[in-house]
Amino acid sequence: MLGSGGDESTVVCIACGESVPRTEAREYDKTGNRWERHDKDFEHFCKDCFRELSHQPRSGLESMLADIEDDGLSETEFIRRYLDRVDDDNAVEEPDS
Ligand SMILES: [Zn+2]
Repeated sequence: MLGSGGDESTVVCIACGESVPRTEAREYDKTGNRWERHDKDFEHFCKDCFRELSHQPRSGLESMLADIEDDGLSETEFIRRYLDRVDDDNAVEEPDS
């Protein structure tokens, strides 16, 4: 770390990587035990990103997260896949298969 605080009450938004006070963050525990393998700090969004997520259909979000989740997937890679998928969903109509 760069010594910019060391405040344990700060968490990192998994979507944009911003450090936000835990009190300002929104925990994401929708997927429950699925996330036990990941560091718990993984499960936070800042307000802006949480608001974006809230616009996503919950059922679609869960299936999307399950789809991009993979064994040994790094946090960075997961976020990259996540953002790619969200961008894609926003850009095109999802074909109903
Ligand atoms: Zn964010």
